Amino acid sequence: MRQAIRVAIDGPSGSGKSTLGLELARRLGLAYVDTGAMYRAFAWKVLQAGADGPEEILDLLARTEMTVDADPDAFRVLVDGRDVTGHLRDPEVSSGASTVAVIPEVRAWLVALQRDLAQASVVMEGRDIGTVVLPDADCKFFIVADENVRIERRTAQWGESSNRAASKDVKERDRRDSSRKTSPLRAADDAILIDTSEQTIEESLAIMLAALRIDASGAAVGADSS
Ligand code: C5P
Repeated sequence: MRQAIRVAIDGPSGSGKSTLGLELARRLGLAYVDTGAMYRAFAWKVLQAGADGPEEILDLLARTEMTVDADPDAFRVLVDGRDVTGHLRDPEVSSGASTVAVIPEVRAWLVALQRDLAQASVVMEGRDIGTVVLPDADCKFFIVADENVRIERRTAQWGESSNRAASKDVKERDRRDSSRKTSPLRAADDAILIDTSEQTIEESLAIMLAALRIDASGAAVGADSS
């Protein structure tokens, strides 16, 4: 029997990694885990509780249960049994996510959950998957795009009037994610770099499938995973 296939996808916000990760998981029939959604889900709880400062946040962390439904067609995150998926894209949750993500204890707790989820075949995306969560992943991708392109994509998601907020979101999170001490955003040495600025989704996917040695239908897996 073939071993689990684990695909790691990292990159900054708006680079296209979620779109590509989801589509790759669907085509390959693999589970999909958006680890950003897990940071967002905990940030949502912190905001709901009005917790402030590391002590209150860690106290809340000790009383949090998180489960993830890793179905690419119905990806969901449950916090203490409540489905919070619908709240995760709110701008304050975005900003809160990159704030809680600098806390080493929060990262350690989520990394353990993520490794558990990766015991079976999975496409997992985030900021530190190839470097920290799954350093021995079968294939690693680092997805980038020009800052302006990423801001435009965020604006398109949030609506035309949100351009300034989208610009602030992308820039602030880039800065926080790249400069934090624990597991900053960076490409693993063995990651394949894909710049999606001027690529269609199909073009980027073709690069990923070729790297995994899978034909365009997603059916035949010929990668060195046996
Ligand atoms: O990917 P997404 O934009 O949803 O992630 C939200 C935030 O969660 C990021 O800005 C980052 O601060 C944090 N994150 C992280 N490590 C991950 C995934 C997300 O620090 N593996």
